[in-house]
Amino acid sequence: MAKRDEFTLTTKRILAERAGQRCSNPECGRSTAGPSDDGSGESTQLGKAAHITAAAEGGPRYDPKLSPEQRSSPENGIWLCAECADRVDKRENEVQYPVEFLRNWKKLHESATGTDFATIQNRGFYPVRKLTLIDFAGVQGEATINFGALTIFHGTSKLNQTVGDLLRIFSDQERFVRTRQPRSGSTWNYGRIPITEDKSFVINVSTKEPRNFPPTGKIRLCLSDSKEVIISGGTDDVSMSISDTHLPVFSAVINVVSIGGNFHQTVFGSPLSDEEPNTMGGLSRFFGISVGELKDCIKGVPTDSSVFGYSYEIRDDSELYLKIRGNDDFYSLGVLSSGEQNRLVLDMAIKIAMYSAKVKPTVLTIDQSHIISLDQKGWAFFLEWVERAMLPFQVVVDRNYRPSEGNLSHAMCYDVIGTDMSVTSFEQLTWNEFKK
Ligand SMILES: [Zn+2]
Repeated sequence: MAKRDEFTLTTKRILAERAGQRCSNPECGRSTAGPSDDGSGESTQLGKAAHITAAAEGGPRYDPKLSPEQRSSPENGIWLCAECADRVDKRENEVQYPVEFLRNWKKLHESATGTDFATIQNRGFYPVRKLTLIDFAGVQGEATINFGALTIFHGTSKLNQTVGDLLRIFSDQERFVRTRQPRSGSTWNYGRIPITEDKSFVINVSTKEPRNFPPTGKIRLCLSDSKEVIISGGTDDVSMSISDTHLPVFSAVINVVSIGGNFHQTVFGSPLSDEEPNTMGGLSRFFGISVGELKDCIKGVPTDSSVFGYSYEIRDDSELYLKIRGNDDFYSLGVLSSGEQNRLVLDMAIKIAMYSAKVKPTVLTIDQSHIISLDQKGWAFFLEWVERAMLPFQVVVDRNYRPSEGNLSHAMCYDVIGTDMSVTSFEQLTWNEFKK
């Protein structure tokens, strides 16, 4: 019988711990350790260290080029539950589980485990694992971003749009529709296109100028349930596929709650119709949801989930009043300072995302350019709260200036590297490297 290059006990332990004692198969993910059921007070181990390339000649994915040391090293192992390990270890399943496929499982699982404890504990709540841009949004070639529960970017002006904007492409409210330009046009544009009754072909890209989706361009979203959503440009169309299934129409895959627009103008300015201006109507426009939904968010989310200790009251069905912790009185929004108005916007965004997360995996995207009156201390307080609160949704923050205060331990931080018009990479930093 061929000599087997088995893993040592230490190597097995390393693999189990790197995987956070969970099966690395993204469709399984079950816990591999727990109490034994014989009442002895012992623990039981249900996980197995499987070989990515076989331990011996004749085994699945055997690679004769590896030395015995390489074959029995942690690099050649993947932590799986007993069931998944047995399936992967069968020679007849080799085609179904090639080397690169298993390496990808391992990489995704470890990236979620090592950098972000909350991702493992609350994985179901955090839909976005990874975003890859290929010849798209200022990226030439390929750039990949891994996401945690809280992901922070700096330098996003180089993208001409924020990472939050990119995630919104996959969202419900402003969805992609497969559409054709008028014949006179020679290229396909991409955009967030409102679905109109007459299925108009006019393409409206927010307030920014339309950009071409180059024929080689791709934006690829890897979700935590291992589904991959790809929007790609072709020579004469833009298409979407989910896990290799081509879809004839673009459909929402995540819910993105975002903060956008000018608060003062939107909330206190005159509404589009001839209705009396009121703050509930203004806030609903600001967040892009209906007044009824906004009321549900305020009433349906517990008051202890207020970041800044605010209590809310809706008067006459149309005006929002706010009480700040330690105060006896409720104030109308008009008398708040601009700093307090910014805090209110963040506070309400958390409530709306919390409400949305009850229904659908949700990402809250925050663009600092819309929260201009919040100082460094305010940001530090907010981000620390978000990290501590273990929220049931993901948070993505695009900062146009670098944080100088606050202590975060699990946030994934990125510098967007490049020139004004193009992005070369997203450099991942620790919070301390990120903070100036
Ligand atoms: Zn498994």
